[in-house]
Amino acid sequence: MTSGNKPNTSFAFQGNQATARDLTDAIPAKCIYVIEKGDEWQKNVMGLGYQAITDDHGPAPQNCIAAIVEHDADPNLDLCRSLADQHKVILVSDNDQFDFRLTAARAGVHAILCSALGAVDLGGWLTDFDNMDHDAYRILIIDDDEMLSQAYALSLQCAGMIVETVNKPATALRTINQFKPDLVLMDLHMPGISGVELAKIIRQYRRNLSLPIVFLSAERDEERQRHARRIGGDDFISKPVELDKLAELIEIRADRARALRQVMEKDSLTGLLNHARFKDHLNLELARADRTKTPLSIIMIDLDHFKSVNDTYGHQAGDEVIQTLAHSLRGALRRTDIISRYGGEEFAVILLDTPVASAHNVMDKIRSAFANITFEAENLEYSVTLSAGIATHVQGISADDILKQADDALYQAKKKGRNRVEIAKKIGL
Ligand code: GH3
Ligand code: MG
Ligand code: MG
Repeated sequence: MTSGNKPNTSFAFQGNQATARDLTDAIPAKCIYVIEKGDEWQKNVMGLGYQAITDDHGPAPQNCIAAIVEHDADPNLDLCRSLADQHKVILVSDNDQFDFRLTAARAGVHAILCSALGAVDLGGWLTDFDNMDHDAYRILIIDDDEMLSQAYALSLQCAGMIVETVNKPATALRTINQFKPDLVLMDLHMPGISGVELAKIIRQYRRNLSLPIVFLSAERDEERQRHARRIGGDDFISKPVELDKLAELIEIRADRARALRQVMEKDSLTGLLNHARFKDHLNLELARADRTKTPLSIIMIDLDHFKSVNDTYGHQAGDEVIQTLAHSLRGALRRTDIISRYGGEEFAVILLDTPVASAHNVMDKIRSAFANITFEAENLEYSVTLSAGIATHVQGISADDILKQADDALYQAKKKGRNRVEIAKKIGL
């Protein structure tokens, strides 16, 4: 608990950047500023994987994701008012009156948390705030015409999108893997290869099946457009396209694609990747680790005695525990780490660029913080623990083998009494 109270501006939020983890470099915690009389919200914040910084240590750091203010500690909402200029403010109050809500809104409060709701609701808000700046659409432009692709890129960037361009079709696949676009905007006519052919190649990979491809085309022939659609290109934008309209046209399509992908690839209870997509990512990342010789660790996590949580507090309460653990993992891990709901009350995580000892360090912090969260159901308070097993990449290891090793380590953790993190005995093939 005490480490969470240290103000430390060097814990700058890392955004999308992947930084190497070693033994001394635990997670650069994302921080939340907390103003309260007791320590309940600090505990919840830490349980959700964030660093809590209290007002005892001075003003709110610039980079904090949100400020949580307990109404009792700020009865006139003066602190809320001064924080709201720079930060997202969450007020903890049980006052449900319209007038109070209005006063709070005028003081710049973004969210009001009822004190009984605790961790699961807070986790939802923090995940939203944390993701807010990172929701820009990622668009890959494939066009042999450099000048034209730059012009398209500029107009999309001006609309807040993140854009990458490819002028040599042969490099498209590699860029797709690295850049992970939400949508590909592709010229239908390129020298040596047509857009339709390139779309075919892109879709030979299962993980690209749901990647929307929009053709930019002067093609007016409806038969040819139909043919291209059948092959897998999802849509057409006719050339010449007015640059100031392009962003709007792309945004509509990217919006739809993202919503669809959310349904296809994500688990509906937690919003994390589902099992099938996790396996796709794992195969990709293992191949990358083989190639780049960077460390990679896998963690399998399972809630302890979860059946009895359901039996004692009800299935709804169980669902909230699962959601809270999802928030904790999101909060504590980097945006580049890959987190999935592997099955029922089981989660799997890929920690990129992370040797096994650091993975253990990181996971053990998550374990102990999560165990400190107090859940509430039907006026009963309870807490839940988790067990985890870790395996690490060695050259040439298969997805099935590394998962089996992590699963064996998880089994050991259960056998040794639960609420613990174990590393696979057999490291290697
Ligand atoms: P252990 O410590 O050995 O893991 O014990 P356990 O009780 O957690 O393990 P077991 O596999 O016996 O039970 C898992 C329980 O998780 C049973 C199942 O009903 C529950 N569960 C699985 N998915 C969900 C879900 O989506 N929501 C809820 N509420 N419960 C779920
Ligand atoms: Mg289980
Ligand atoms: Mg379990």
